[in-house]
Amino acid sequence: MGNFELICEVPTDFGATYTKYKSTKSGLTVVLSDIEAPLVNGYFVLATESFDDFGCPHTLEHLVFLGSEQFPYKGVLDSLANRAIAQGTNAWTDVDHTCYTITTAGSQGFLKLLPIYVDHVLYPTLTESGYYTEVHHINGEGEDAGKFVVYSEMQGCQNSSSDRLHLRMKRILYPETCGYRSETGGLMERLRELSVEKIRDYHKAYYRPDNLCLIITGKVDPADLMKALEPVEENILSKGPLPPMQRPWVSTGDFPNLTKNIEETVLFADEDESMGTVLIAWNGPKCHEYFTMKALEVLNLYLTDSPVSVLQKEFVEIEDPLCTGISFDSTDHLKTTLMLTASNVPIEEIDEFPAQLFETLQRLVEANDIDMERMKMVIEKEILKVCRTVPSNSGICIDFLYGSEDGEDLKKAVKDKEYLAQLIDLTVSDWINLLKTWYLDQFHVVLLGKPSAEFAEQMTEEENQRIEKQREDLGEKKLEELHDALEKAMAANDVPVPNEILDNFVIPSVSTIKFIDVQSAQNNSKSIKNAVQEHINRDNSADIPFFIQFDHIKSAFIKLTAHISASSIPSHLLPYTRIFLKSIFSLPVERDGMTLTYEEVVKGLSEDTLEYDSGLGTSSGFRELAVFSIKVEASKYKKAIKWLQDILWHTQFTAERLKIVANQILNDIPQSKRDGHSMTIACMRIIQYDATKSVSASRNVLFQTAFLTNLLQTLENDPNSVVKELNIYRDALCNPANIRLHVAGDILKLEEPRTSFKDFSNNGPLAPITLAQDVLSAAGISPGETGVIINLPSIENSFSMHSTKGPSKFDDPDIAPLLIMIELLDTMEGIFWKLIRGQGLAYSCFLDSDVEAGEISFSIYKSPDASKAFEQAKFVIDQLTTKKMEIELSAVDGAKSAVIYSMVSRENTMDRAALQSFANQVLKHMPASYNRSLLTAIQATKVEDLYRVLDKYFVSLFDPKTSNHVVVSTSAKVPEIQKSFSSLGFNLKSTTLNDIAGDASS
Ligand SMILES: [Zn+2]
Repeated sequence: MGNFELICEVPTDFGATYTKYKSTKSGLTVVLSDIEAPLVNGYFVLATESFDDFGCPHTLEHLVFLGSEQFPYKGVLDSLANRAIAQGTNAWTDVDHTCYTITTAGSQGFLKLLPIYVDHVLYPTLTESGYYTEVHHINGEGEDAGKFVVYSEMQGCQNSSSDRLHLRMKRILYPETCGYRSETGGLMERLRELSVEKIRDYHKAYYRPDNLCLIITGKVDPADLMKALEPVEENILSKGPLPPMQRPWVSTGDFPNLTKNIEETVLFADEDESMGTVLIAWNGPKCHEYFTMKALEVLNLYLTDSPVSVLQKEFVEIEDPLCTGISFDSTDHLKTTLMLTASNVPIEEIDEFPAQLFETLQRLVEANDIDMERMKMVIEKEILKVCRTVPSNSGICIDFLYGSEDGEDLKKAVKDKEYLAQLIDLTVSDWINLLKTWYLDQFHVVLLGKPSAEFAEQMTEEENQRIEKQREDLGEKKLEELHDALEKAMAANDVPVPNEILDNFVIPSVSTIKFIDVQSAQNNSKSIKNAVQEHINRDNSADIPFFIQFDHIKSAFIKLTAHISASSIPSHLLPYTRIFLKSIFSLPVERDGMTLTYEEVVKGLSEDTLEYDSGLGTSSGFRELAVFSIKVEASKYKKAIKWLQDILWHTQFTAERLKIVANQILNDIPQSKRDGHSMTIACMRIIQYDATKSVSASRNVLFQTAFLTNLLQTLENDPNSVVKELNIYRDALCNPANIRLHVAGDILKLEEPRTSFKDFSNNGPLAPITLAQDVLSAAGISPGETGVIINLPSIENSFSMHSTKGPSKFDDPDIAPLLIMIELLDTMEGIFWKLIRGQGLAYSCFLDSDVEAGEISFSIYKSPDASKAFEQAKFVIDQLTTKKMEIELSAVDGAKSAVIYSMVSRENTMDRAALQSFANQVLKHMPASYNRSLLTAIQATKVEDLYRVLDKYFVSLFDPKTSNHVVVSTSAKVPEIQKSFSSLGFNLKSTTLNDIAGDASS
């Protein structure tokens, strides 16, 4: 493959394969991880070792984004990333490496951007002006700072308890010749002395192709990747040979072990002196000792992972807790460090804490006390986790930083499942030995982090004095010069990106994005033809007369979901919805003539399932459906079906459980009533939905206080009547005719995908799916002349929501241009952002098109006066429709990319892709290809289409005759806001949360 030589190919437990290449010419390393997903991720890693606290690794990370040799413009990388259908770029600096990241939809944009990104990393401009604005400068007031610069970032964390404890720990554990000792973020006092020359030198020493690893995950063709890297290689080689380089870390990352116990107090600034933090550290194994590291990880979990684990039981779950959190952690260094952190330790207990901890560990050793049953559970859970989560890149990273050149370490780094399986065979004494060896027989460092108000005061004072002195030393004239210098540097950085650079970067076609392949089949379907359908049809030994959609994806798990149409619930019982859904998974169950207590049900569910849930709707809406889901390992498919049956039909409502759940709901309500934004939504729903028809409207928190308070009363006096009503509710909801089942997972591996349902209740003809647009009130059906302003004393600002008619058919051609128009208006740095947020009229505002309800809404979030923000939005729309304000073409391209990216990320995992498949085909009655067609339509949208939707929908949003309005405001502002809305032609009725709920329910 050109200059690149294959080093190794390594399969992982998750199913992806890592392929590692290295260029024989430039020394550049590339690792490809072929995860099946439409998003492609890049992580560009450099080993960055530093022996001081000037923060060269971190400051350099910031400067890389200010332009490169071939693209010397600030912001060019992000603008091009946008055209590559990505969501910006990012980076982080760790103590041993720096990593630059990017995620794009599809590989085409990624491969086009790759050489440009690498040019930024290897050949950044590193200008004086860039350094001045982004790293450190003194402003015209004589202060060290600036808004988004590194200096301010470090100011924000350097004196936090966690940073102070960890820095002290590093200073104790690592010798001066070891880079792990340094603050790679940069200490403020050093940052003030740093210079751009020093950063340039650092770049020259470490940002070399032979010290750079490009980790790429997703569906990328290796040949295309090598092709994209050709110009990169050429450019590198054109610079001539580099002097030989000592590989970072390999000679300095090992260091002597502690030779004695050390205990110290570390003060940190805090007014409140009641709680401290304890950090204990030990020398750990080498990072290559994968099996030992995994064993320690499991032991740590066993000791701390749940309320029944030893350390939590002893230190947290007690009447006067000795801390609120306790956990282990370890570094990924060549020689690792093991750490224990106990947070929120009461200050009067903190001195005793370490001794108590070591006593507890000692006691376990003396009593040989390891609960092997729980240990087994911990290991089994970890094994499931390995198969279910995309592997992190830490294995690749460790291999690149510390591993052998032949890829042997990469092979060992990914055998988590094998190590875990071996751990099951360990005996009690093996575990006790591990505990003893690493945590008791070794020397340790104990750091007691204590809050100190005096220290806080002293630090503030010292800093003030320093700045005062700095100001005096500089003098008036010099300060003025500094002010000018800053302005000049900012101007120098802000040279606009030439249009031709943007235009030359052709936006890739969405047809090149490789989506997760979902194969759908339906029970008893004659029309679908594919392997999955054939597999279903072969399983025909029983009559299964109801609707099931099977979505085949690669997965070790099966997710079983029942989507239940709620339209047959009698109106007067609809308010039970909230308590029904919240209690249903924690009730006693009648099973095979026996009653399982609610505790047995909860325990059984946690043993058999990975997750279970009940609620209204899915992530794409459909709140008129009750949805119950259970996720299990594929081998427990039949158990999942049995549980679903039990939950839907065999649960028993008891007054005792209902009281507990009702009180839980009631306790949460005051909190949600203090949230201005959710209250605007709740009130708009009261106005636009018919609570006698809509299951989702009836569970509005604004109705629930009165309902549940009455319910608690009835549960005292006449509990049987409540139980009776809930049973009627359940019979109406869980009527088999209302149920659509969805099975997602590796269907082809299920032996009886279909007949496993043979004991499931029978079905009549399917009831239709109720959409939000079917349960609207009169004001929801034809918006206009309806508006309220709610007086909410608990908030300090105002919030509002404005609603009008929008497209209501899922295949409406207006949807694509509407989504782009919405993105153009409310994206970061977009039109509303600049003209509303930028003018201080509101913290933010956003638009939403809800096709299921057939409405478009505009929300104003945290505004000093919502009427002013609304007036400005109205003005903007006027300007746009009359073309006094132009829609910029480059902004349209950016908006399209953003909409496409967010749609693609919605189906980036197997589970999400399966859900989209079900929602499109069953809930929306659209073809499986619905999302792809919409993406194509988005890309094909023209500016005329945008003007069309502007005229058609946005104008009516700001016309009192065709829109509804809710404003929620702090009391003092109500009359003023009401008056200014009225002067715009909108009459808002003044009311309160209680009254609006009362009026609607009477
Ligand atoms: Zn930073």
